[in-house]
Amino acid sequence: MIKTEWQHIEAHLPAWLEESRQAARRGKVADYIPELAHAPADALGCTLIDTNGNTTNAGDCGLTFTMQSISKVFTLLLALMDRGEERVFNHVGMEPSGDDYNSMLKLELVEPGKPFNPLINAGAIAVTALIKGDSTDEQFVRIRDFFRMIAGDSSIDCNYDVYASEHRTAHRNRSLAYFLKDNDVLADEIAVEDVLDVYFRQCAIEVNCEQLARMGMVLANGGYDLVTGQSLIPYRYVQIAKTFMVTCGMYNASGEFAIQAGIPAKSGVSGGIIALVPGRYGIGVIGPALNSKGNSTAGIDLLRKLSVQYNWSIF
Ligand code: GLU
Repeated sequence: MIKTEWQHIEAHLPAWLEESRQAARRGKVADYIPELAHAPADALGCTLIDTNGNTTNAGDCGLTFTMQSISKVFTLLLALMDRGEERVFNHVGMEPSGDDYNSMLKLELVEPGKPFNPLINAGAIAVTALIKGDSTDEQFVRIRDFFRMIAGDSSIDCNYDVYASEHRTAHRNRSLAYFLKDNDVLADEIAVEDVLDVYFRQCAIEVNCEQLARMGMVLANGGYDLVTGQSLIPYRYVQIAKTFMVTCGMYNASGEFAIQAGIPAKSGVSGGIIALVPGRYGIGVIGPALNSKGNSTAGIDLLRKLSVQYNWSIF
């Protein structure tokens, strides 16, 4: 009997994952946020969900981890829903920066203060400042509830140990945010420490591979959740988010990932990666050991293998 692609994936994912796990040896767990350093370096987990909600898991998919930069995709979507395209892109650009995610370099060099895109730290901080809410708590709760809705899971929450760890040590992000403030990218009424507080909480939202895959599935489906039959995000905004994932989602290795795997993806310094195959699958991966660009070594290896095997590249 000829197997469908889904049956083939279900049958082979565990073995491919074990092969990719070897690549974890080439990476290193992030420790600039001290709490992240406790993650198991050789872990690798993966969940795929198709647009009907069928789910397949492999490896250490039970591991929970904080979203870190992956959160930036979803906060951008909420900011677009709160404020519209024009207002958001008054505060942040649309171009890859070619620099590290926490770089200050081009902030001063090009259009003073305006971050290149919403997926680098400066851009994400500017976007978080646009989320509606009368207090930082209200802003965070709106972000968290939006993430819960997309993941279809009301238990998702912030890991306050990771939040506190980043809050204590985020000197670079603080300097970026004060620079934004100095250039009026953060409005007069916005206090720098307040934006940062929401940003750190958003980055510390904790998920597992399945929750991440479900979020990816909603994007794969253009913002429509086929499982619940609800339209959760306007299609235009999903299009914007997916484009940023392709051009800037894998840090300064986004071009390489586009050539090798060719699917929209976003990684975070916890080693998580969200990826999607448009119209077909949402994918959640965790592999805490990172390469020098900040991407999970084993996670990238696995996604590349899957994409080549099933010809997933959108290009
Ligand atoms: N919270 C992290 C930071 O701002 C997120 C970085 C990342 O995942 O790229 O440094």
